[in-house]
Amino acid sequence: MPRIYIETYGCQMNVSDSELMLGVLGREGYVRTDDPVDADVMLVNTCAVRDHAEQRVLGRLGELKRYKRPGDVLGVVGCMAQRLGPTLLERVPQVDLVIGPDGYRGLPELIARARDGERAADVAFKSWEHYEDVPPVRSSQVSAFVTVQRGCDYRCTFCVVPMTRGPERSRKLADVVGEVTRLAEQGTTEVTLLGQTVNSYHDGQHDFAALLRAVGAVEGIQRLRFTSPYPTDFTDAVLVAMAETPAVCEHAHLPVQSGSSRTLKRMLRRYDRERYLQVVAALRQAVPGIALSTDIIVGFPGETEADFQETLSLVEAVGFDDAYTFKYSVREGTPAVRIKDHVSEETKTERIGRLIAVVRRVAKQKNIRLVGTTHEVLVEGPAKRGDLLQARTRTNKIALVEGPAEWIGTYRRVRFTGTTGSTFTAWPVESTPNVLPLRVADRGAGGEAWQPPT
Ligand code: SF4
Repeated sequence: MPRIYIETYGCQMNVSDSELMLGVLGREGYVRTDDPVDADVMLVNTCAVRDHAEQRVLGRLGELKRYKRPGDVLGVVGCMAQRLGPTLLERVPQVDLVIGPDGYRGLPELIARARDGERAADVAFKSWEHYEDVPPVRSSQVSAFVTVQRGCDYRCTFCVVPMTRGPERSRKLADVVGEVTRLAEQGTTEVTLLGQTVNSYHDGQHDFAALLRAVGAVEGIQRLRFTSPYPTDFTDAVLVAMAETPAVCEHAHLPVQSGSSRTLKRMLRRYDRERYLQVVAALRQAVPGIALSTDIIVGFPGETEADFQETLSLVEAVGFDDAYTFKYSVREGTPAVRIKDHVSEETKTERIGRLIAVVRRVAKQKNIRLVGTTHEVLVEGPAKRGDLLQARTRTNKIALVEGPAEWIGTYRRVRFTGTTGSTFTAWPVESTPNVLPLRVADRGAGGEAWQPPT
């Protein structure tokens, strides 16, 4: 049987797409290998959001070509493949095929052509493509990513995604529910719905609120997450659905990008600082105790020290549980390239250092207060280091806990015994597996029904 090796860079959408590609090739008899030395086909699933990510892939391709034997195929897929297209074949002679996110159905054919010596690229957008008939090959049975929306119609001036993933389109609600039902029947209890602006999901008949309710009602699904939502797409209906769907976890990743209204306007984000803070308040009212994480860019063109100070103060004002921080990276073809006043690399480096310090301090203060508290965790697998197990709370906090391997995939109740500032050590406080999730009434003091803000 031919062996396929896939190396994945970037976001969860890419992780999900790699599972799809394994599904496409699995139907052709391919089996997965985790070692490129053994592989007949090596694919690198790439990210194009930052120049650094692309440079890393170019370096990695130089390494992978060493494992290529006669007849083996080396391919570049994903967002960088879409962005650079056939030019990638010219730049890297050892690459045999280049396929964008809408072309994975054609992998077997392009691999066969590559074996015949033909180097080819497929970077056409296919607005109908959802890979509906392809069963993804997932590496975890405990928790699953389920893509519900592909592409993006927003035009944030820094972002290359609309150019690499094409126009936004949503899968049919019934198809998503069917996939989640099959996952639940196989024992998966946690799903994460994926989309570039996932809460703008609409299949023509159903909105994201309906999707949350439908997926949350699938028997066996105990935890429902989604990423990444767009701040102003949290309609009242979505907030009520979150509040009323017990499986929806008390965590939202809410990309802000900047705390300065002036910078947000230049980024063409559809909210200002005040509106973002209103969304945060509405989420906290709808789902008491909700944890919030975010994405932040520093050094966007024209960002002044005063703008940056507003980002720092927003981190304090919101009290994020976590934040992914990035230095602005020029992306060819995006509108921001034309904005004047680029911030120097030195200033970006200095600002991101200050930002990380504030993010860590804010998160640490919150997490220290959680030591001694008790949580329901889903045990995900062995921890990366040591003999412990890695588990996750509904609020997306990671806890390392001692326990037997049989606990993987089960729910446990644990007490946090310490924190590094970001992750926790924990101790099991009862041995009953599969603790039921919190009910809605458990969330607020007294369990009052939540009303949308007026
Ligand atoms: S919403 Fe903006 S940042 Fe997010 S993928 Fe679309 S264009 Fe990019």
